[in-house]
Amino acid sequence: MNKKADVNTFKQFIGGKWVEGENGEVFEIQNPIDDSLYAFGAKGTKNDIKKAIKEAKSAFIGYKETLPMDRERMLLRVAELMEERKSDLIDCLIDEIGSPIQKAMFEFSKGLTMVRAAAGMCRNVRGETIPSDAPEKFSMSIREPLGVVAVITPFNVPLIKTTRLVCNAIALGNTVVHLPSEMAPHLTIIFAEIIESAGFPAGSYNVVTGLGHEIGDELTGDKDIDFVSFTGSSVVGQHINEICAKNKTPNTLELGGKSPTVILADADLEKTVPLAARSIFMFAGQACIGSSRFYVERPIYEEFVKRFSQVASKVGMGDLRDPNTVIAPIISERQRNRIKEHIADAVAKGATIVVGGEWDGNRCKPTLLTNVTEEMTVCKTETFGPVTSIYPIDSYEEGLKRANDTEYGLSSAIFTKDIGRAFHFARNIEAGMCHINGPTIHDEAHVPFGGNGESGVGREGTDADMEAMTELKWVTVQL
Ligand code: NAD
Repeated sequence: MNKKADVNTFKQFIGGKWVEGENGEVFEIQNPIDDSLYAFGAKGTKNDIKKAIKEAKSAFIGYKETLPMDRERMLLRVAELMEERKSDLIDCLIDEIGSPIQKAMFEFSKGLTMVRAAAGMCRNVRGETIPSDAPEKFSMSIREPLGVVAVITPFNVPLIKTTRLVCNAIALGNTVVHLPSEMAPHLTIIFAEIIESAGFPAGSYNVVTGLGHEIGDELTGDKDIDFVSFTGSSVVGQHINEICAKNKTPNTLELGGKSPTVILADADLEKTVPLAARSIFMFAGQACIGSSRFYVERPIYEEFVKRFSQVASKVGMGDLRDPNTVIAPIISERQRNRIKEHIADAVAKGATIVVGGEWDGNRCKPTLLTNVTEEMTVCKTETFGPVTSIYPIDSYEEGLKRANDTEYGLSSAIFTKDIGRAFHFARNIEAGMCHINGPTIHDEAHVPFGGNGESGVGREGTDADMEAMTELKWVTVQL
């Protein structure tokens, strides 16, 4: 691909140096609002991945000895530098992946909390003393970093995922090779500039940009990778899981979802409907924890559908820099076609479009479907767009049963005043997360975030990553 003189071309960050792809090739990054050229990314090769792993491995020897106070200081500096470069990060989230400013600001604030929470981990890498059956033997466990962590991030929340996973890994004394989504490399490049300015040593954090499906296996399959943290689709996650199994490489997989919301007849619709809208329309449904299934008790079903469609038809679709805009463009042609196919298939098989189903450029209007049946693709498969189905239910028990009728298991929600049923739901829903009277979309730096089944393996967050990205060693002293 030929570079154009007036368009930015981003480099990779390997071993503390800014470098082109091994072959000098680049790939195009498009602004999803109109598919115009946003920039070029360096097209990293398998050799670039090898070099980055080598740099990370040799940096680990010194980096793991850094003092907690130094890692803490550098991470807190990362947070300061993020605030200084806030407008660069926000602009990038808007123009590289099409975030409305509302979502970009939310992501920026959340990212800051991720970095600060990671700084707090540095002093808490703790083992314990253990009673021993042997006389005069002192027994303890110490917690050690694993080594080189591969971080692979998706396009939709690149700042949240980068700040959480990279900062947690390096807070614990690991070094990192990061492969960001080919649709969002610039965000990670800005982050790498910040990491460099914060004083992290060369090789402790490396970014290889390129096409994940071409070079990803080189990363996840390398014997010098000690842990893989992957966020993305279930199909790629399954593939990575198989590769990791061969090398016994531990991993966390944060994958797709088909998250349900159950709304019982006693729910306060005034409060519930706006939260239902937030659950699916934020970033145009391009959220793993978006709620794409609503099960509503029959006495309030008609009223809920009416109110939800009124809200849906008014959701902001203006300029991405207008704070009232919610609906984002859909990231790629492939993903737009997927959404169109899901809607067309549902309609062909008898579903009703209550509102939406149309497009404005690359943006799909908020779409509510009723009369959805199991034969329709949209019923069970992740759509990853502003499309959701509303089903009537005759009882709480039916709602729980149908909410669990999925291969995914990421987020879930129930709206009711009945605390007994709410807790019964929280205990019996087969999902990694459950929100009572709150939307399925929620995340915090220190919570166990993740899902079951097709939605993934393991959890992330400060406590979960402390467990996942370190290993315990048993040490004894004969006194
Ligand atoms: P994707 O699976 O297409 O890509 C994710 C990343 O994997 C990209 O960086 C890509 O380059 C890389 N990749 C592709 N093939 C690879 C390979 N063989 N080896 C290594 N890396 C490879 O996903 P996407 O379209 O970027 O993101 C959307 C998906 O991510 C949705 O399914 C969504 O639900 C999921 N997601 C999950 C979470 C979560 O926390 N559970 C969060 C955000 C997104």
